[in-house]
Amino acid sequence: MKVPFFDFAGSLIDIKPEVDSAISQVIDSGRTIMGPQLEAFEREFAAYCNASHAIGVGNGLDALTLVLRAIGVGPGDEVIVPSQTFIATWLAVSHVGATPVPVDIDPVTYSLDAGRLEAAITPQTRVIIPVHLFGHIGDMDKICEIADRHDLFVLEDAAQAHGARYKDRRCGTLGRAAAFSFYPTKNLGALGDGGAITTNDATLARSLRALRNYGSAEKYVHEVIGYNSRLDEMQAAILRVKLKYLDSWNTTRRSLARQYQDKLAGIPGLKLPTQANWAEHVYHLFVVECDDRDGLATSLREQGIDTLVHYPAPPGQQMAYSYLAAEGKYPLGEAAAQRCLSLPMWPQMTTEQLDYTVACIRKSRA
Ligand SMILES: *Cc1c(COP(=O)(O)O)cnc(C)c1O
Repeated sequence: MKVPFFDFAGSLIDIKPEVDSAISQVIDSGRTIMGPQLEAFEREFAAYCNASHAIGVGNGLDALTLVLRAIGVGPGDEVIVPSQTFIATWLAVSHVGATPVPVDIDPVTYSLDAGRLEAAITPQTRVIIPVHLFGHIGDMDKICEIADRHDLFVLEDAAQAHGARYKDRRCGTLGRAAAFSFYPTKNLGALGDGGAITTNDATLARSLRALRNYGSAEKYVHEVIGYNSRLDEMQAAILRVKLKYLDSWNTTRRSLARQYQDKLAGIPGLKLPTQANWAEHVYHLFVVECDDRDGLATSLREQGIDTLVHYPAPPGQQMAYSYLAAEGKYPLGEAAAQRCLSLPMWPQMTTEQLDYTVACIRKSRA
């Protein structure tokens, strides 16, 4: 048996006719950018997140960058980021000229450790970016309480957590703004690049609408030095179709995760993902931890099972960030990079594929 990490074609089979018809509608409309599909998607995605505003942009990195730009973060400012995340979280900070200041992760949930946050705050700190890594939200009440006390802006990196809940609230309004990515394999993915920002702040939403469109709210009137970063009509139309299925896909991800949990229980040295009591995980990734992670990955590959590592080196160990000299200072992020392995997980994965994966893991760990 072959088990891919993610089956792109398989993930579309059931909705192909609806996606085809949405694409045809865009072609027939002759509107390709900043049209009715974007407006409708923004309305629907804001409602889904229970946010007052959603602003579609070109991708998740731009969603993060534009928020930092809109609130005036720049050179001399510091932005707190988790030590282990996808590098885009850090890149957004760098793109506005500010300095990323890492805080080590909580080794259980992989989110920024709220207990270490206060020690990283300086007079230059402006923003905290908690990342809902792998689909699990960290302790946002604690993070926001510290942020409020120091008058800091909380920007959620929700790129892996569409629909995930903290207590009874979905991500998107847990901080002052949230950045989403619609990269094709994300829980809500386009058929190309896409992103969005959600917020309850009307002034911020207005700035973001101008910033994504050359700094202009009215054609040929440019208030600020803006970008070209828009969610196009084709992607918006496709996302409108897929948004209707997001909850049911997340429910299926949770049920697959439960099966993995039950069937992988009791393997010595294999740490399974946990869910904090405040969280409803959406398992963008199902990440296990073990010694000799590379050995397990190789053995699974030989048996036809694809796995991935998210992420093999923390941003602080990348050449791009050598100037921060962060290497060795964030041992928990570095340990996660050494030990984590993402198992196959997508909503259309079958029980047979999951059982085969479990059996091969048991065999190679016996
Ligand atoms: C995917 C991702 C991003 C960036 O999104 P893109 O749409 O690929 O630019 C940012 N942060 C995290 C945590 C991500 O997983």
